[in-house]
Amino acid sequence: MDNLQFGMQRLIHLDLKGAPPKLCYFEKFLPFLKEIGATGLLIEWEDTFPYTRDLMQIGGLSNSAQATGAPYTIEEAKQLLDIAADCGLTVIPLVQTFGHLEYILKHEQWRGLREVELYPSSICPSHSETMPLIRSMIKQIVAFHSNIQYIHIGADEVWHMGLCSSCFKRTQSSKYGIATIYLEHVTEVAQYIKENFPNLKIIIWDDMLRNIDINALQEYAMGTLVEPMVWHYNSSETFNLAASLWDKYSNVFSNVWIASAYKGATSSCQILPVNKYHISNHEAWLSVLSVHGGKIANFRGIVLTGWSRFDHYATLCELLPCSVPTLCLCLKTWLMGGHSNEISNSVAKMLGYGDTFLGLEMLDKPNNIASQLNFPGWQIMMGFEWFLNIRMKYRNIVNSDQMSTWFNEWQVLNNYTNPMQIESLLPPITNLCMEISSLENFLKGHLQVYFHSHTIDELMGTLLSPIKQHLRQLKCECETQISNGCRIRGHKRLNA
Ligand SMILES: [Zn+2]
Repeated sequence: MDNLQFGMQRLIHLDLKGAPPKLCYFEKFLPFLKEIGATGLLIEWEDTFPYTRDLMQIGGLSNSAQATGAPYTIEEAKQLLDIAADCGLTVIPLVQTFGHLEYILKHEQWRGLREVELYPSSICPSHSETMPLIRSMIKQIVAFHSNIQYIHIGADEVWHMGLCSSCFKRTQSSKYGIATIYLEHVTEVAQYIKENFPNLKIIIWDDMLRNIDINALQEYAMGTLVEPMVWHYNSSETFNLAASLWDKYSNVFSNVWIASAYKGATSSCQILPVNKYHISNHEAWLSVLSVHGGKIANFRGIVLTGWSRFDHYATLCELLPCSVPTLCLCLKTWLMGGHSNEISNSVAKMLGYGDTFLGLEMLDKPNNIASQLNFPGWQIMMGFEWFLNIRMKYRNIVNSDQMSTWFNEWQVLNNYTNPMQIESLLPPITNLCMEISSLENFLKGHLQVYFHSHTIDELMGTLLSPIKQHLRQLKCECETQISNGCRIRGHKRLNA
């Protein structure tokens, strides 16, 4: 594997569309990334980019990007790039140009550009206002990032194509049907970049190219326009890229990237990453490249993606600080050409786990919580470990046979309960109420160091508040039922 890894890029993906950290986090995190062997960043700003002028409404500056306040001012966004430069990290900006455009098409102003009126994901490439918008976005992004060599134009998972009447007509009259629509739009975007920023190389996610006929890719000269980034995030057990893909790509493209995942690629509402799964994804990639790598003329390198949401409207998944151990394990696995116990031990030692074993599998909860680690934001990770313990205790209570048998909804509604049972239910509920309040204070305290209030509100409102409210309600009902003191069915309710 030496020939593939030497001098290659090892980029870390920053998915800022969910839980974008404050600048003070990047001040610690980016030097740390450099130290563990990253060579650069793939920055997906999405709606946190401080777009100006005609695009003001899209970006962080408009206050519409996140619930309250701009994640990054122009100065802060510049500072982020300065920190990366100081650390010697290459930066590649990613701007979506076809699908995953919810952050634009959700706005009234651009609603008319949707391919399907109801869905905000894909833009209509036939609409006369589409390219002016995309050109404007690219122009602002490129102007903001000085000295970049690459731009990533996304273009993955374009769910809706050839569906509006104009696009449908085009598919009917074109040689490759829907593939034509895709290739023509990518060509238009790429040609705009080549003409205006001739030094920039263009990267594209590869998934839409996988099923496009090689003749079509060659006819549209995709190899002269873009460099595909082949992404696959599954573990070895389910890793599945057709072998023929490498033959096809090697005939069309000279330069190829790959993308793995260290977070945001298992459950769409995952709280902490599953180390074993993500390590396995990197091992699978190493194994695929050992077989097919020789077919690639110029292997650019890997991007370790870390998704914050599955899409713009999805809830948050693993936060950046919660994923640092996984990221280290994955990057070391890649660098060493495979995983070993030595890697786990050295990463555990580096992160301050000491003799505590850095578990690779998700353990049954409650789980022991480490008390002192030494990477940026480790307390937040501990807070979520604690949350998972609490959530498990909560689920154990509400799903218990005792609740279903002696304290179910019908029984509470009819005041038909026996205090003997409820007296043993009340203490764990009361304790958990207190514990979740302590966790809330702990998490809020640590989250506010590195995250904006809109992120904290979303996390609390999604994860903690519903459990807290339900526990309070249960506590109250327990107390009422005990005070009722075991009566006939429908007591008080019947008399009320
Ligand atoms: Zn259309």
